[in-house]
Amino acid sequence: MSTTTTHAPLLETYARTDATFVRGDGAWLEDAGGRRYLDLVGGIAVVGLGHLHPAPLAAAHEQLDKLWHVSNLFWTEPMERLAALLSERFGGAHAFFCNSGAESIEAAIKFARKATGRSGIVALENSFHGRTLGALSVTGQPTKRVAFEPLVPGVTFANLNDSASLAAAVGDDTACILIEPIQGEGGIHPARPEFLSRARDLADECGALLVLDEVQTGVGRTGSFFAWEQLGTRPDVVTLAKGLANGLPIGALLVADDHAAAFEPGDHASTFGGNPVACAAACTVVETVDGALLAEVQRKSAELTRRLERLPATVEVRGCGFLLGLEIDRIASDAIAECLDRGLLVGSAGERVLRITPPLTITDDELSGALATLEEVLS
Ligand code: PLP
Repeated sequence: MSTTTTHAPLLETYARTDATFVRGDGAWLEDAGGRRYLDLVGGIAVVGLGHLHPAPLAAAHEQLDKLWHVSNLFWTEPMERLAALLSERFGGAHAFFCNSGAESIEAAIKFARKATGRSGIVALENSFHGRTLGALSVTGQPTKRVAFEPLVPGVTFANLNDSASLAAAVGDDTACILIEPIQGEGGIHPARPEFLSRARDLADECGALLVLDEVQTGVGRTGSFFAWEQLGTRPDVVTLAKGLANGLPIGALLVADDHAAAFEPGDHASTFGGNPVACAAACTVVETVDGALLAEVQRKSAELTRRLERLPATVEVRGCGFLLGLEIDRIASDAIAECLDRGLLVGSAGERVLRITPPLTITDDELSGALATLEEVLS
């Protein structure tokens, strides 16, 4: 880690740690002083295949040498290939590409309104969907919202895993029910299968769409390509971003084929959406996140969870795959700082929750090393 220095004039929207990283390789990062860190943050569930994974690296390089950008008034091969791959994974979907998670949520809100002719959104308390005004409006965390009100009207919040509160929130003007399969930023709180199934029924009964925000849970993060595959409820709409291009900016809205006609030319757009370099990298990510990799994520996650549960400071381990929340009996930021001093990067998801989102490709030995450090710090 570098010593405390004066940094460039960036707006202070982040409480940044005083570390500058210059290189990445697999599950490892190197700082400007040449020190190496084992990375359990993975860019907050972004670098799913690990830093500099050869497949997206080669695809991005190759595409950089061919074509960087054309307008969405035209087609490009990487964008079409990615749409086809994602459609296959979903079981029949049409894609809209953008550049971030928040943009995918904006697209989902607009899509739901256009498809249903209604304006209401039912979202969940404690959720997180992004920082743009629309995405913030459906984010159930008052502390993030209050300074920016008034926000988009028509949003009603229900409680996670409380079907009665969801039923009470849904009405004749509901365009969509929006749910994260696992609330990430809100503290790693999984939606129960029966809650999602009730959300599916409620959406069907009232003619609303069920939208799952898989910006954080998607692309293999939870041990299946989409988290909903393990939960048994198929949504109408899915949002993706973080892990899709292994670190290049991309977001996607996927709409089940039977609803896809609702968007018409002129309804929505993004200049950079579907960028050929990002899409070329993303194609290789989708191809690499195959059954064998997902099985390994599930195996390693089960072992990691078992060992995290045995740590002396552990209150609870929540989550699935490599989206794990370790609730501890002390302040997370102190533990994170101590881990950093020992060369281990760990994230947080709340005051007492460590967020563990390593590359999906992290090895057993690397996980054992990380656990040894966590054990030192949390004993
Ligand atoms: N949705 C979820 C579930 C997220 O976790 C995030 C970011 O953490 C977002 C949306 C917003 O994504 P972005 O930061 O790319 O705008």
